[in-house]
Amino acid sequence: MPDVCIQCGKELHRYQTGNLCHACQEKRLEKMITDDKDLVDAEGYAAMLGLDSAEQLKRLARKGVLAPRIPAIKQWRWRGKVIEAWFKQKQRAGDVLRRTAMGIASNLRRCSNDSVICLSPSDKIGSKVYGQEHVLGTTDVGRVEPITLVKVDRSVALNALEQLPKKEFPELIGITDWADLTYDRINEDFIVRLEAYF
Ligand SMILES: [Zn+2]
Repeated sequence: MPDVCIQCGKELHRYQTGNLCHACQEKRLEKMITDDKDLVDAEGYAAMLGLDSAEQLKRLARKGVLAPRIPAIKQWRWRGKVIEAWFKQKQRAGDVLRRTAMGIASNLRRCSNDSVICLSPSDKIGSKVYGQEHVLGTTDVGRVEPITLVKVDRSVALNALEQLPKKEFPELIGITDWADLTYDRINEDFIVRLEAYF
């Protein structure tokens, strides 16, 4: 997969399927729907994703990252509406993941830079990473009082954690819950990588 959309050059998100950005895929999908091609074959679906061939599409299908085919017929055929619904659902899932990762990143940054919250590098960040309750921290004007962190859905956050490749995020090796991260593993470089991933 390329890093950027082959049509407009916009950076591709990691979860994106195919060689086109979301907006370009959406345009092709809309055209497909308005052309009233409700029956989509492998070539049509491949074109929508910006793939060169139906073969590439079939490889993706085997990985389970495409809309479900029309059941019962043993052919590479999809309903346009099913692709559309799948596409929208995938976009929503991607948005949620991205928002969650940004929330986690924000809480990591806030907590690790606050000497009231982060007392020792070997301490775990704990449930503060999910931002569900107020914690005592330092305000912008230097006062120590309860501060507000970004509320993050724990189950989505754990899902995101599972998806992050440990090769690119060695800080997360052996970590199965964000709360177990110790401050010595949290630095700006790691946080920036996290913000950029999804
Ligand atoms: Zn594009």
